[in-house]
Parts: sequence; structure tokens; C-alpha cells
Amino acid sequence: MSADSWHIGRAAAPGLACGPLFRLPATDVPQRQRGSAAEETAALRAAIAAAIAEIEMLQLSAGAEAAEILEFQIAMLGDDALTEGAFADIDGGMAADCAWRTAMDAQIADYSAASDEYFRARAGDLTDMRDRVLGHLLGIADTAPPHGAIVLAPDLAPSRFLAWDWSGGGGVALMGGSPTSHVAMLARARGVPMVVGLPPEIGRRPNAPAILLDGEGGRINLAPTPDDIRSFESRRKQAVADAQHWQQFLHRPAKTAAGHRVLTQINVAGPGELDHLDPDICDGIGLVRTEFLFHDQPTLPNEEQQLAVYRRILAWADGRPVTIRTLDAGGDKPIVGLTQDGESNPFLGLRGIRLSLAHPEIFRVQLRALARAAANGPLKIMLPMVTVPEEVLAAADLLRGEIVALGNAGIDCRPPELGIMVEVPAAALAIERFPASFFSIGSNDLTQYVTAAARDIAAVASLNDTANPAVLGLIERVAAFGKSAGKEVSLCGDAGGDPRLIPQLLATGLRNFSMAPSMLARAKATIADWSGAPS
Ligand code: PEP
Ligand code: MG
Repeated sequence: MSADSWHIGRAAAPGLACGPLFRLPATDVPQRQRGSAAEETAALRAAIAAAIAEIEMLQLSAGAEAAEILEFQIAMLGDDALTEGAFADIDGGMAADCAWRTAMDAQIADYSAASDEYFRARAGDLTDMRDRVLGHLLGIADTAPPHGAIVLAPDLAPSRFLAWDWSGGGGVALMGGSPTSHVAMLARARGVPMVVGLPPEIGRRPNAPAILLDGEGGRINLAPTPDDIRSFESRRKQAVADAQHWQQFLHRPAKTAAGHRVLTQINVAGPGELDHLDPDICDGIGLVRTEFLFHDQPTLPNEEQQLAVYRRILAWADGRPVTIRTLDAGGDKPIVGLTQDGESNPFLGLRGIRLSLAHPEIFRVQLRALARAAANGPLKIMLPMVTVPEEVLAAADLLRGEIVALGNAGIDCRPPELGIMVEVPAAALAIERFPASFFSIGSNDLTQYVTAAARDIAAVASLNDTANPAVLGLIERVAAFGKSAGKEVSLCGDAGGDPRLIPQLLATGLRNFSMAPSMLARAKATIADWSGAPS
């Protein structure tokens, strides 16, 4: 392929797409004729109510994960803090559409300027809500892209993405956006290739009748040569054949070429992700990221709400082990009102277990819910970002205290196994000192701390490499300790599902990987090809 005709962005959802370009028309809207303040207030209330009703309809046909995202929009639209500015401007004499646009643009600007990628990613949801309400105020209809088209836009609202039919293929190319945005999560879940962060000037570039989008390499080609198209098509055919081959492994237990068993578990960020999955594809859930319970919620989840979610996950697992990680907020995962704002280096700040121990009143609620859920199945508790053994002892003390209190109150519970994430070099280097009953290597954070290269800074992405011998050496050390001490060691960072890294991880002695469900089939196929020595 001619490298120079490609425009480079960031890969957000894998897959290869070839199709006509569809430039999303900007919402260029006329202004509304202004009525009295009472009429404008009523018009805005009606438009917000209509937008909520429309999102609720979308929720009915959306999958569970998409429904959770739409729930966030419904909650925001119902929140006075979001709408009060617009109503105040209407009282001051503004038309409903101007008032709504002004209030929402200010919020969008705030979110877009946030230093945390998580908040920047939420700006897309706010834009979606702004345009949906404006659409109702001004009577503007949405234009759907033709089947198989590649949508090019500055950003794309999650509800707009969900409203379109992707069954005919196609893809999404965004000049803005982020791989962690809601729309990118939806694209991955629906198998729609997506590239984000493309150079803004491509919005004005001429294009051929069919363009190419490479969701693996994070790039698009607006003017492919016949040679570009031929080699892209042959890659596409190969990708389809490969996917069919990997699929044969999905329902089988993972084994190396010599027949040695390797456990393959899944990582989930919420019970919604399990709805369409068959538990037979995995040996358990190696990581539940409980941050999902705390994000985008008007209040922190109480014990009963958490208990219901943990029970739902255990019921899905049907007797397989489920490792639930206590809240890992902070760093790249801020939670409004809980994590510290303005830390000079949030990745080295009050995050993970440090934050939980600083807020025992919140941590205790989670420990109680987990101990109660443990009565329903093989639940294990895992502590994130552990740096010193004292943190494990403090968490174990709190857990013990809650179990005693539950017992005294006659509430059914079980003491779950208590393990730790190994993602801070201080833990990996002194693993023998940690009083944990199991270990799970967090290769995402371990790699960034060992290489001093942040996991979310593109400019240092080549340094942030789990294959660095220093990282692999630490992983080998932890795996060897687990073997000698008879304690389970797994790996639940992204490396565990990466076919380029799996052979090197197997060579460290690891035999237990937890990964995104979409990576399982290919990971099992990669393990089946590995002919290294038994550990
Ligand atoms: C890790 O750091 O590898 C990990 C699994 O945790 P998270 O990606 O949620 O920080
Ligand atoms: Mg981590």
C-alpha cells in the first residue's frame, strides 16, 4: 500500500472497512421565533421530555451495555444542575433554543477541556443531548448514512450511532473522539471499525468514491489507488478467514501444542457485557472492574445495589470463579466527588486501594456487599494498586470487621479469598512480603510504572511496551513465586489477550490469563500454537 495516502489517527475499534464516504452534515440550524418566557420555558421542557422519551425508546432495542450508556444521558437530562442555566437565560429574555445551546456549549467546553480523558470522552454524550433537544425544538430530522458507508465527522453521538443500521457494514472516522469514549465502546461491541483523532484537515480533503478505513492500524485512506484497494481487499479476506479459524477454539478449553492446560478467564466492566455471552467460553471471570458502579451515577451505589450486581455476575458464571476488584478509581479513572481533583500526577496519586483506605466509610459498604455476595458462589476479592503489605492487612482487617458485624446481625455472608493486583513495581519486586491468597498481574499499570511511559500518552506509546525485558522479568519473578508458594498467579492486563505477547507471557511460566471476551478465541488459538516447555 502507498503509505503516503493514509491519514493516521488512533485505533478505536478493530476491523477493516471499504465503502463510500459519508460526511456527516453539521447541525446548521435556523433560530427559533421567540415567544414569552413562559412559552419558551414550556417549549424547552417539552423538548427535553421528548428527547428523554426518544432515548428510552432507543434503550428498548439497544443491548445492555448501550442501554447503560443511554441511562447516563437520561439521568443527565433529568438533572436540574444541567438545565437550570438554560431556564435562567430564558427568564432573562433568551429564546429556548439559544438558551439551551448556550448552556450546553458551556458544559461541552468544560468537559472537552478537562485534563482527564474520561471527562473529555463524555463531551460526546453532552453534544448528543444538545443536538437531540435542539432537534425537537427546531423540528430537524436526522440523516442516516447509506448502508456500508464510512462516516466522517468531528465527533459522533452515541445515540446517533445506535440509531443507525450497521448490519450492512461500514465504519466510523472521527477527527475528534477518544478510544475510551462511549461511542468507541459501542463500536467495539457492535464490530463496527472505528478510527479517532484523525487530522482535522481531512474534513476538507477530496475523496474517491470508495475509501478505506483500517481500524487495526488507526488510519484512513481517502484516495486509494487500485493497488491500495487490491491489497486492502486481500487483507480483508484474510481477516475473515482468520476469524473463522479462531472461532473454532472459542468453546474449547485452552491448551498449548503439547496439551498443557492454560486457564483463560474474562475481564468485564459490568454485568451488561455478559448478557450475550456463553459462560462455557471461559474458565471464570478474572477481573470485574467495579468502577462502572460508581461512574456516571448521581450518588454512590449502596450495599443492596452492589449486592444485586455482584449476585447477577455470580449467577452468570454458574459456579466458575469470579474475581471482583474493589474500586480502582483515580489515575485515568476519576469519579466526580470522590477522586482528588488537580493532582499533579494522578497515576502516582491517591488511586486504587489508597483511595479506598482513605474513605473507609465507602470501602466498608463495598466489602459488606462482596462478603454477602460470596455466600452465593465462588467470589474472590482483589485489591488494586497495592504497594505495601500494610495495605493488604488494613483491608483484611476492615473485611473481617464487616463479616463479624454481618454475622452479629444474622445476615448471611462468607469470608471471600483476598488477593491483590500486582501492578506496582514495589509489589512485584517484593512479592514474598504480601499476605495475599492470590495474585493477578496488572500488566497495563505495571508496564507504565516500569517503563516510566504513561499508558494514555501516544507520544511515548512505543516505550510503553510489556515486551520490555524488565517488565517480563518482573512477571517471571511473580509467576515463579506463585509456583513455589502454591498460590495462584494470573495476568489480567491487556497483554493477556494480545497474540503478539502471549508466547512471551507463556515463556515466563504464566498459565492463567484474563482478557476482554472479544480476545478469547484468538488468544486460545495462539496458545494452541505455542510449543514451549511446560512450566
Ligand atoms: C492493569 O493495570 O493491567 C489492569 C488490569 O487494571 P486497569 O487497566 O483497570 O488499570
Ligand atoms: Mg491497573
